[in-house]
Amino acid sequence: MRHRIIVLGAGYTGAFAAGRLARRLRREDVAITLVNAEPDFVERVRMHQLAVGQDLKSRPFSGMFAGTGVELRLAKVTGVDVDRKTVAVAGADGAEELGYDTLVYALGSGWNAQGVPGTAEHAFEIAGRPGALRLRERLARLDAGQAVVVVGGGLTGLEAATEIAETRPDLDVALAARGGLGDWLSSKGREHLRKVVGRLGITVYEHAAVTGVEADRVATADGRAIPAAVTVWTAGFAVHPIAKATALEVTGTGQIVVDGTMRSVSHPDVYAVGDAALVMGPGGKPLRMSCASGVPTAWQAVDAIAARLTGGKLPNVPIRYFNQCVSLGRKEGLIQYVTADDRAVRAALTGRLAAVYKELVCKGAAWGVANPTFGLPTRRRRVTRERVAAGSAVAASA
Ligand SMILES: Cc1cc2nc3c(=O)[nH]c(=O)nc-3n(C[C@H](O)[C@H](O)[C@H](O)COP(=O)(O)OP(=O)(O)OC[C@H]3O[C@@H](n4cnc5c(N)ncnc54)[C@H](O)[C@@H]3O)c2cc1C
Repeated sequence: MRHRIIVLGAGYTGAFAAGRLARRLRREDVAITLVNAEPDFVERVRMHQLAVGQDLKSRPFSGMFAGTGVELRLAKVTGVDVDRKTVAVAGADGAEELGYDTLVYALGSGWNAQGVPGTAEHAFEIAGRPGALRLRERLARLDAGQAVVVVGGGLTGLEAATEIAETRPDLDVALAARGGLGDWLSSKGREHLRKVVGRLGITVYEHAAVTGVEADRVATADGRAIPAAVTVWTAGFAVHPIAKATALEVTGTGQIVVDGTMRSVSHPDVYAVGDAALVMGPGGKPLRMSCASGVPTAWQAVDAIAARLTGGKLPNVPIRYFNQCVSLGRKEGLIQYVTADDRAVRAALTGRLAAVYKELVCKGAAWGVANPTFGLPTRRRRVTRERVAAGSAVAASA
């Protein structure tokens, strides 16, 4: 009987986790199953590029995980029962229940309309591929001079507004930010951002909290009506809803509460990584939803699972930030260096070099997913008999 590990979600963190588990543990001891709704890897960090008409490389999972020992299940997860230790899935063969001994939850997040009236009906979003493709189709039908308003002055909003303005200089692109433009950046970073945004002709509405979206405008708290043939909503991500419907301890927003090894504080057989997990970073600040911190949570979870199964030493690597990498169209970028807890320091890399750097980061992340075992299965360790037996005993009684 092998110890059954199920990884839910093959985004950046789930795919990394499955590959790393396969590198760490012996095939004879563990059965690793990766469940994902889509047949190919979606580079979420490039959804603004997809939306403006760029074609992204196709990355089918079947090729990536072939020969790795990871079993790929293309199915939609419809529920998780953490007391019975089962996952309900719906795939091409219908509904099914999968039993696990260890679960890695990595279902990520989607867009967050934040309950603002009219957003669900009228706004476009780029948190995932269906939304980005819908926006792509709409942007292609816009005539010169029509207005596009990007709501949200965070990293995703900056990337979306600059990408749209660079690709479609004929459109009237605006950005509505709740605070000042790039107000968390260093003065060098802010200055560069203003320069690029100005050069691209983007109108910036600062301190503009959007309170409503209509078919042809957005309304702000201070009474402004900004014309918008298309509104692109980028104001934050909402956690996948399944965790909240389980007995797992979650936050008010649905993130699974974990300890330093990414293990659920309420259910020790469950690990959560990426956007789905509330992870405390340096200074006791929660990590923000990002690949930058999500991928290290996957490493940490896998190393902890491997250590607990094989009797090894538990990892204790603090997860920290180094920089924020922002694309500002294809030709410009901004690398803002930060403290361990994500506060800007003076140093920033700007211009074309920053654009190249950001591109390499995106390519590197996708390469890591596309080569899940990094070519070679290394340091595969033996699962102790007690752990396999413990898993089997629970499975038998479930
Ligand atoms: C436009 C954009 C730009 C971004 N830029 C950056 C950046 O520059 N740097 C950075 O660090 N972060 C960036 N992010 C954030 C980053 O993409 C996310 O934080 C990251 O993708 C989270 O990884 P994850 O594995 O937790 O979730 P996801 O990548 O969302 O993966 C979740 C996976 O679960 C699957 N799934 C979901 N529901 C189900 C279901 N019911 N059944 C089966 N499978 C399911 C999905 O198909 C997906 O494969 C950006 C995000 C966007 C949208």
